[in-house]
Amino acid sequence: MTELFDSASQRVTRAQRYLEMSDDAIERLRLPASSLKVSIPVRMDDGTLRTFPGYRVRYDDTRGPTKGGIRFHPRVSVDEVTTLALWMTLKCAVLDLPFGGAKGGVTVDAGSLSPAELERLSRGYIAHIVDFIGPDRDIPAPDVATDALVMGWMVDEYNKIRRGHYPAVITGKPLALGGSLGRETATAMGAFHVLQELVERHVDAKEPTVAIQGFGNAGSHLATLLAAAGYRVVAVNDSKASLCDADGLDVAALVEHKDVTGSLDGAPDGDLIDPEELLTLDVDVLVPAALENAITEANAHDVKAKMILEVANGPVAIEADDILEKRGIVVAPDILTNAGGVTVSYFEWVQNLQRERWTGDEVASRLKTRMLAETRNVADVSADLGVPYRTAAYVLALRRIGEAIDATGTSVLFGDG
Ligand code: NAD
Repeated sequence: MTELFDSASQRVTRAQRYLEMSDDAIERLRLPASSLKVSIPVRMDDGTLRTFPGYRVRYDDTRGPTKGGIRFHPRVSVDEVTTLALWMTLKCAVLDLPFGGAKGGVTVDAGSLSPAELERLSRGYIAHIVDFIGPDRDIPAPDVATDALVMGWMVDEYNKIRRGHYPAVITGKPLALGGSLGRETATAMGAFHVLQELVERHVDAKEPTVAIQGFGNAGSHLATLLAAAGYRVVAVNDSKASLCDADGLDVAALVEHKDVTGSLDGAPDGDLIDPEELLTLDVDVLVPAALENAITEANAHDVKAKMILEVANGPVAIEADDILEKRGIVVAPDILTNAGGVTVSYFEWVQNLQRERWTGDEVASRLKTRMLAETRNVADVSADLGVPYRTAAYVLALRRIGEAIDATGTSVLFGDG
């Protein structure tokens, strides 16, 4: 394994110092339970055949079927997918969801494919992992560069192969195929509740200023919620452009521009800045909502924000943790902050299994209750142990996973084994 998984494991080891975990539980969590690597041949529109590497990793299923998104990105590797699967295991435990953790991915630049090629790749991926997943076994969902449309193709492919209807095998589906109301905005909404709960403890400003890296599904919805709640969004970016306006950006105009053109390039509001500069702006809240390792030991000394709200998975490298802590910068950790998505995915799975449909208000209210309760639990552990929120979230998750592993007795079998 390379760096990302090693540093994720180091954070687990650090947190284990603050709780009593059995040797068996520690050993069980050291490595992923099962990993699948596939090669997906796809007929391209020009008649040629290209093969894409794909992965699905199930990290631990002691607390329930494994759960985790599917990422399409050129940087996807077995190391990244394994790390994300470990984080999903912890995230589901922090939110006390009856799931273990998994993740999937395909190494591909999805933007370079035509819609028909993307559909063939999505269906091919499912055909290759079909025996690895299932409503009671492993339940995928969207992640970077995959969305409800892609989930629709995937569930349809699964249903065709299995000759039945299994909506609960995948979450984040289109509403018409059994998706849940509120799933698209769930990650942003969850992060919003975490911020609302913590911001007053750490930020003394009437109109807190915010900079957001990554104006995708999670980042752009969060920008809209924050602007509506009286925060001043002074900077946002995506992979094409970085925009800043100290008086506050017109978030609605930027969302509309991105919807129409696909990026922030040529947007109607804000001055262009360097992408690195966005991370070091003098704001109250910095929101990394793009990819891993945005804040490392190279730039952590330059971060001026009072709080970092980790909407992306793993945006702060482990080496930056100590630097930020020493500098008094509070980090709301990813495994709590971005858990709104998997929480509403859980609600979608429950609705599918019960053949029910909840109203948008019911989903929103259940999400709020759960996010606030677990944010308070993390804050309590942090206060009790005198540790940062990240360590506290790891302690809470590991306690719950450790208890479950110990409750299974001395068995070392996994899944159907
Ligand atoms: P997305 O593909 O919709 O958006 C990602 C955005 O980041 C895009 O706008 C892209 O242009 C931008 N980006 C990529 N590299 C960048 C860079 N170097 N600088 C600035 N911007 C950059 O993805 P998403 O679903 O919004 O996910 C974003 C992050 O949030 C990921 O880490 C993902 O794992 C995490 N997350 C998402 C969800 C969810 O439900 N969407 C749930 C939990 C965690």
